Amino acid sequence: MRKYTVRVSKDYLGFCSAHFIVFGSNVCERLHGHNYQVAAEIEDELKADHLVFDFIEFKQILEGITDSLDHRMLIPLNSDTLGVEVTEENVRITSDEKEWIIPRDDCVLLPIENTTAELLARWVSGQLSEKLEAKLGQLPRVLRVEVFESPGQSATIELRNEA
Ligand SMILES: [Zn+2]
Repeated sequence: MRKYTVRVSKDYLGFCSAHFIVFGSNVCERLHGHNYQVAAEIEDELKADHLVFDFIEFKQILEGITDSLDHRMLIPLNSDTLGVEVTEENVRITSDEKEWIIPRDDCVLLPIENTTAELLARWVSGQLSEKLEAKLGQLPRVLRVEVFESPGQSATIELRNEA
């Protein structure tokens, strides 16, 4: 049995965004930013054209996803501990001790519990698998997404779709 994997990890597949993580029930990091990088890989059989998936298309799809996060504050809509109120103008985030008010257009609202690299990888993998499924007519056998918060520090998620 042969196993093929294609991987993309270009410099432009990144996003420069602000966030803070909540530890435990109420300890919030200070607001700060990262130059996040994203790598993704598909493990699957070769198609009739001898490709697992076309690199150009793979990069374009992933770039669309990373661009949607770029130069924004990452807001975890499903936080257990933060209050998040969204109006047309602003996003207001509250914790036990602090309040942040950010222009709505400067934010990206993510259905995740915390903006850890792990959950950002989960969100990116969900977006990516939707788009790959639309292209392929099915999910790839294995999809991996790695989100680097900084060089040498990353979280990876693996989605398996095996019959
Ligand atoms: Zn951080």
